[in-house]
Amino acid sequence: MIIEVRLKLVKQHFTKKEMDMTAKYIPPEWAFEFHGHLCPFMPIGYRMGKLAMEYLGVKREKDHGFFVFPEIGEGHPQTCMADGIQIATGSTYGKILMAMTFYGKLAATFYHPQKGAVRYSLTPDFIDEMGKYEFFVYRKKGVEPSQIPQRVSEEVTNWTYKQSDDFMFKVEPKPDFKFTPAKGSFNKAKCSVCGEYVFERYLRTKDGKPVCIPCSGFTKSMPGA
Ligand SMILES: [Zn+2]
Ligand SMILES: [Zn+2]
Repeated sequence: MIIEVRLKLVKQHFTKKEMDMTAKYIPPEWAFEFHGHLCPFMPIGYRMGKLAMEYLGVKREKDHGFFVFPEIGEGHPQTCMADGIQIATGSTYGKILMAMTFYGKLAATFYHPQKGAVRYSLTPDFIDEMGKYEFFVYRKKGVEPSQIPQRVSEEVTNWTYKQSDDFMFKVEPKPDFKFTPAKGSFNKAKCSVCGEYVFERYLRTKDGKPVCIPCSGFTKSMPGA
């Protein structure tokens, strides 16, 4: 579905004033394709990212200068927010600009070394109101978003578009927030056991020889690895 079609679908449910208010927070079509399904949370994350960028006065990140720390965890709903945040900000997981704190909260701190930091969280009132929509009846039964009737997914998503920023988000400046990214290095060496390249901060030494973490028998570096 192309963006014009989606916007037309959305517009059917909106007055002109509501459309003017919210249009800039409706994600582009490629965002839905990237995300994979229609749900309210990717667009909420998108809006959160856009608002945080406006608040801090930063543009969408092309390279490696804008960091986001979503507080979501694993095994709970609504983590789709993180995709919307990445789409809006360009602060992607692959550029190592996004790291989850695993607090299990619907919030994120946005940090730019020159512009400072701000934390956005969803208000409990907003979460409670949204939770009344039929979409969540399906989700609680274990129905995946792509299997939920489009009418049901659109109903809740369009409702979120119409809510005010103040109702949706609590905004907290974080003047003391500090974060030092790892220093970049192209240095690498071959593991003496498996022969694969390893970047230097991950090299370990065993019996005086360079080894990768899996070959080292030392503590694993990733949960579940
Ligand atoms: Zn989703
Ligand atoms: Zn190895």
